[in-house]
Amino acid sequence: MARKFFIGGNWKCNGTLEEVKKIVSMLNEAEVPSENFVEVVVSPPFVFLPLVESLLRPDFQVAAQNCWVRKGGAFTGEISAEMLVNLGIPCVILGHSERRSLLNESNEFVGDKVAYALSVGLKVIACIGETLQQRESGSTMAVVAAQTKAIADKVSNWTHVVLAYEPVWAIGTGKVATPGQAQEVHLELRKWLHDSVGAEVAATTRIIYGGSVNGANCRELSAQPDIDGFLVGGASLKPEFADIIRSLTVMKSQL
Ligand code: PEP
Repeated sequence: MARKFFIGGNWKCNGTLEEVKKIVSMLNEAEVPSENFVEVVVSPPFVFLPLVESLLRPDFQVAAQNCWVRKGGAFTGEISAEMLVNLGIPCVILGHSERRSLLNESNEFVGDKVAYALSVGLKVIACIGETLQQRESGSTMAVVAAQTKAIADKVSNWTHVVLAYEPVWAIGTGKVATPGQAQEVHLELRKWLHDSVGAEVAATTRIIYGGSVNGANCRELSAQPDIDGFLVGGASLKPEFADIIRSLTVMKSQL
């Protein structure tokens, strides 16, 4: 069962109007494989979403970096999933470690958000990952399994879910997981999906890696059988993002 390579660019809380236009121009001029081989989604801050959506090449998509957990209403400062759909934004990143740690988003809250966003028709990039302390204490798999279970408890259809494994110690630190470290967790996650959700979901769900991916380390990581793409932070704001998009041009198959 083929899994199309998936590259997400998370711009986080960065960019002025001028900078955003420059990044979009850079992306629009980049020579990259066709969307038949790689799915590219960039995620600007909320305020720039409509602009980026209108200027960006049609073979790339946009994603929001978050949305509210249920229908909008009296939730000052929040953006609802319905608003994203209304603006034609097809996708949302949920459960990023910066939101889990800085804004105390729990596993259950993230699971609820994923389920709600899917229910209104959004595609979801759901982020999971362990801290350095958790890795060093040997609990990596227990942590990512609990995070994934909280999603699986609320979600029955995984067609529009991409799972992003992002070890917290690798995000924005320049300290990338080795291909072996990343592959080990991706394989375990796929086994977890197989045993806890089902064989079809395990075979078809893209599990992408995030954490200090750049133009220099992306090829070796992309060669791992269970790494189906990347979620890229810092490097997604730079021209090397095009090199990352080019890192793999074949469909990943179930091995
Ligand atoms: C991220 O923000 O999801 C991320 C992986 O950041 P960076 O690539 O900068 O580590």
